[in-house]
Amino acid sequence: MSWVELPAESEFGIDNLPYGVARHADGRQGAVVAIGDHALALDGAQRAGLFADVAALPDDAFAGRALNGFLALGPDVWRATRARLIDVLTDPRHRPATEPLLQPRRDLVMQLPVQIGDYVDFYSSLHHATNLGRLFRPDGDPLLPNWRRIPVGYHGRAGTVVVSGTPVVRPKGMIAPPEAEPRYAPTAALDIELEVGAVIGAGSTLGQPIAADDADQHVFGLVLVNDWSARDIQAFEYQPLGPHLGKSFVTSMSPWIVTLDALRPFVVPGPPQDPPPDRYLQTTRPWAVDLELRVELSSATMRAEGTPAETIAAVNFRTMYWTLAQQLAHLTANGACVRPGDLYASGTVSGPEPGSEGSLIELTWRGQRPLQLPDGTTRAFLADGDEVVMRGWCGGESGSRIGFGHVAGVVEPAR
Ligand code: MN
Repeated sequence: MSWVELPAESEFGIDNLPYGVARHADGRQGAVVAIGDHALALDGAQRAGLFADVAALPDDAFAGRALNGFLALGPDVWRATRARLIDVLTDPRHRPATEPLLQPRRDLVMQLPVQIGDYVDFYSSLHHATNLGRLFRPDGDPLLPNWRRIPVGYHGRAGTVVVSGTPVVRPKGMIAPPEAEPRYAPTAALDIELEVGAVIGAGSTLGQPIAADDADQHVFGLVLVNDWSARDIQAFEYQPLGPHLGKSFVTSMSPWIVTLDALRPFVVPGPPQDPPPDRYLQTTRPWAVDLELRVELSSATMRAEGTPAETIAAVNFRTMYWTLAQQLAHLTANGACVRPGDLYASGTVSGPEPGSEGSLIELTWRGQRPLQLPDGTTRAFLADGDEVVMRGWCGGESGSRIGFGHVAGVVEPAR
């Protein structure tokens, strides 16, 4: 039980302690840990001597404007720091020294928590891959022969990963309408992809693959990701080399990294895999995460009139066919290394039931079943002014939830 006053419904309780980077009211920017409606500035806490007993924590662990330096220190240091934070925020003897370092989270502007060197996006939901296969290749087998053999993925654009709240300008690109010449125009098929991202903490050595069961030696924690997608740009450009400008205009991530240590009670077996994966993709323990995900959509009119957002999708992350451990093993199987701050995303999370699809192209079946919004309008894809909010949490009862917060973005007109 923390001595910090926690709102009953808080998803940032003492068992969570997610890490982020915030800009403070005075303009300083630095690493913070969330507890309830407050955040603890970590560089200040270290200067105050609160981490003095954490061996191997260098004096500059929380210096800098991103978490990369701390993440690079590895799982033993992460775990010791977490244990110390729990002690400091629980034992009332630490309250006098610690309380002045807490700030209301509403006074902070959250930033991208890590400097991202490399970004990979996977395609690991069986239901999403099957749905998209049916939509893009109606005449063939929806799953290509490689799909059950490897976690299919591509390298995305790290420099356009942005923090939640960053506006999403409608992208333009080459679009080929049926029976017409391709031309450069604003997308008419702006979509979302509900995903979970893994943030690399400790890097690996070039030439040395990571064993799947060693994923927690490298992955620091998870975030929510919205992989905004322009389906018409994607449809024209994707063959033969895969996604490019239909994805790279912007990718949003939630500001709080929920650590694998906090998520440990919610690690569960994933779905059965058939055929059995190759040896390098095999694990000896569970790696799926029982993580509830939601997507909310509101138009500008709805927000102006105070109408609550519509929940348009609900799905659990544990339904993913390939786990984050298998994805990391695959990502490094050729000897490619990972570095602190790298991000890899799960691919769109879609379940088997109607309403569990993590993208609009699936939810509306490419516009054939448009969504009805409370303001009387319909959506096949996103309109200017629309806001998409994705949320995630582990655990049922409020108060004991391990929450992810949210990742949000508002669509702005093309420029
Ligand atoms: Mn994606």
